Amino acid sequence: MDTPNHPARVVWHTTESGAGDNAFKNVGQYLISEAYEPHILYDPTTDRLGQFGPLNQSARALQNDGSARTNRTGKACIQVEVLGKAEKPFTSYWKPGKNFKALMDAIRSWGVPDVFPMGAPPALAKDCKRDRNVWLTKGGHYGHCNVPGNSHWDPGHISTSALFSAAPGGDSGGSSGGSPSTYTVKSGDTLSAIGQKTGVAWMTIASLNGIKAPYVIKPGQVLKLKGAAPKPSIPAFPGTGYFKAGASNQYVTQLGQQLVKKGYGRFYQVGPGPTWTAVDRAAVKAFQLAHKELAGDADGYPGPLTWKLLFG
Ligand SMILES: [Zn+2]
Repeated sequence: MDTPNHPARVVWHTTESGAGDNAFKNVGQYLISEAYEPHILYDPTTDRLGQFGPLNQSARALQNDGSARTNRTGKACIQVEVLGKAEKPFTSYWKPGKNFKALMDAIRSWGVPDVFPMGAPPALAKDCKRDRNVWLTKGGHYGHCNVPGNSHWDPGHISTSALFSAAPGGDSGGSSGGSPSTYTVKSGDTLSAIGQKTGVAWMTIASLNGIKAPYVIKPGQVLKLKGAAPKPSIPAFPGTGYFKAGASNQYVTQLGQQLVKKGYGRFYQVGPGPTWTAVDRAAVKAFQLAHKELAGDADGYPGPLTWKLLFG
């Protein structure tokens, strides 16, 4: 790479061809014979994916911008050719699967955020933005339509939200690039393995996420890494006297609203409101039963620990 101190990025292309296994083979051979190889060839109709070369080396899918070798911009410049046509955006009919997710994982492992720094690729060639400064300095996703010194306008007006939501777990952290700020736990992961993958010390991940010995994590769990939002401050527990038969006060409302927020809204036909009722008690009890620190004494009356876990 020529400018490895600039952030990593991805460039999306369309091959202006059909899709399917025959196209996959023919287009792959054509790209090799012309020395136009991207890193990745992807079939949006079958989720088939092929790789021409390592992501940490430049590909050959872009024209130079004068003397600037656009294929070598940034720490990585990952080129993805999608079997499809710019005039018919592939996100309108595609069937992304586990290979697409694997591709997005690989892209995100370079710290590429889920953003298009020049906006969504446009539907018309005349609307392409090719800003040299943005291209050089911002990590993220681009279309071929955004690369300075290039004439192609692929991949057409793809849905950027469809692209990211087909592979959840990315970082939409502004336009500045940087490290992903969340990580979705995969089967077999341990905290130390995640620490190695993400470059964040595992003890830091544990403390950011409130995970204590024996450090159990579950597949699908989303862990905060860096730049995590500060923990919400926990309101002081007002005392058990506010939560008993006949009580009516703002804390009962506050408790009920927080129970709804935490997923216990099913208990409330009306409210939550200020008057302590059997419904509040049932919701508190369900919350207590769902937390092993509380389950042994799940009487439906909130104490300081129930309060802390509910608002923490
Ligand atoms: Zn292209």
